[in-house]
Amino acid sequence: MQLNAPKAVREALRRLSAAGFEAYAVGGCVRDSLRGADPEDWDITTAALPKEVEAVFSDCRFIETGLAHGTVTVLVEKMPLEITTFRIDGAYRDARHPQSVTFSRSLREDLVRRDFTVNTLCWNEQRGVVDLCGGLYDLQNGVLRAVGDPQRRFSEDALRILRGVRFQSTLGFTVEPETAKAMLAARKKLSHIAAERIREEFSKLLCGKAVRSAASRFSPVLTVFLPELAPLIGCEQNTPYHCFDVFEHTLAALEAAPPEEALRLCMFFHDFGKPACRTVDANGVAHFKGHAAVSAQLAEQILRRLRYPNRTVRRVVRLVELHDTKAPRDRVQARKLLSAVGADDYRALIAIKRADSRGKAQPHAIDDRLEAMERFLDDILRDGDCVRLCDLALGGNDLVAAGIPVGAQIREALEGLLDAVMDGRCPNEKDALLSFLTERAL
Ligand code: ATP
Ligand code: MG
Repeated sequence: MQLNAPKAVREALRRLSAAGFEAYAVGGCVRDSLRGADPEDWDITTAALPKEVEAVFSDCRFIETGLAHGTVTVLVEKMPLEITTFRIDGAYRDARHPQSVTFSRSLREDLVRRDFTVNTLCWNEQRGVVDLCGGLYDLQNGVLRAVGDPQRRFSEDALRILRGVRFQSTLGFTVEPETAKAMLAARKKLSHIAAERIREEFSKLLCGKAVRSAASRFSPVLTVFLPELAPLIGCEQNTPYHCFDVFEHTLAALEAAPPEEALRLCMFFHDFGKPACRTVDANGVAHFKGHAAVSAQLAEQILRRLRYPNRTVRRVVRLVELHDTKAPRDRVQARKLLSAVGADDYRALIAIKRADSRGKAQPHAIDDRLEAMERFLDDILRDGDCVRLCDLALGGNDLVAAGIPVGAQIREALEGLLDAVMDGRCPNEKDALLSFLTERAL
């Protein structure tokens, strides 16, 4: 069986092999190529020791990353390739790191230290796909199975637990029962894992096509690093709009959102504030007044704890705050919303509201309004409607010239004019704007 590997990968494998070293593409790249998906990165595993790898690629640039673990990153034809020496991990400490790493000349020894059978597949041109751990069978059947004794594998390195949930979500595979049992049993060890590593896996997990079933099955894994999630589970929403509890609704909405990090994070957190805001009226109907603001606070706190970059935190928090905003009913309302949030967030809001509605009792109830919301935006952008201060036909200097004192009043006056133009109370023309101001001042 052959793979469609990039030229740089073929070249690297050829060089190592010509120098007498066994070498393969390994792990996710082989798994994904065989599924017909585009690999994220190509990793190479080889019998050559790091010094030998450096000698084979002496004319290339190196990025020295994980030399202690036997990894040399080489730039081959501008593509960074991680080339790692076959290795055996020593005893593990702190549920994550092996105490020592021993280099090996045996491919099998290198493969059995890997996490899941589908991640042990390797390939080179001479041998085709090499499968020493039953990875092909599991790949064909869509099964995620730990390599070797699952209990031991997850207590050695707890990050593998979250990788397992992530792979169920992104690959849509079923986790083999003994593997799932061991993941759940070892879940508390995840608390030893660095926030950055959790964050990387968590974001990938959220963007998976099967996030609903993965997060539902492994919710006890998620609550280890997201204790704030627990109150959503079983939080009933006895309202006419909902047929799920808050957690089930969250997962349905999440899976319906486009697989982009900020949108999926927003959907994940959008109702986190509901349990704290829940009230029940005399008719037994539940209300969640003010939940968007509380959800936004929780999202901020959690995203910071997981060390998301500031830009992501700010965007997600903004979108969570916005998620319950009513869809504009006409072009004037649409201009005002666009003016307040900008085109990117306006579009994101359409996607969020659509996904949110997919998780409700009547998923298509607001489709028409969202289509109109989209149309308003297209029309506004096509016609160049005035929605920003800089779109106004006059500026601060014109107001100063007209006798308005320099300072806060200028901004106030400009904002008043923008509002009047967006409302259609005043045309966006300099003279009309100036007389509008004078009339208002009288
Ligand atoms: P992707 O690149 O799509 O995120 P991947 O499976 O390639 O997924 P990488 O982090 O690139 O994941 O790791 C490459 C390979 O290294 C894996 O396929 C697996 O064989 C091995 N591996 C990675 N992390 C672990 C781990 N924590 N424990 C054991 N093996 C691991
Ligand atoms: Mg990879």
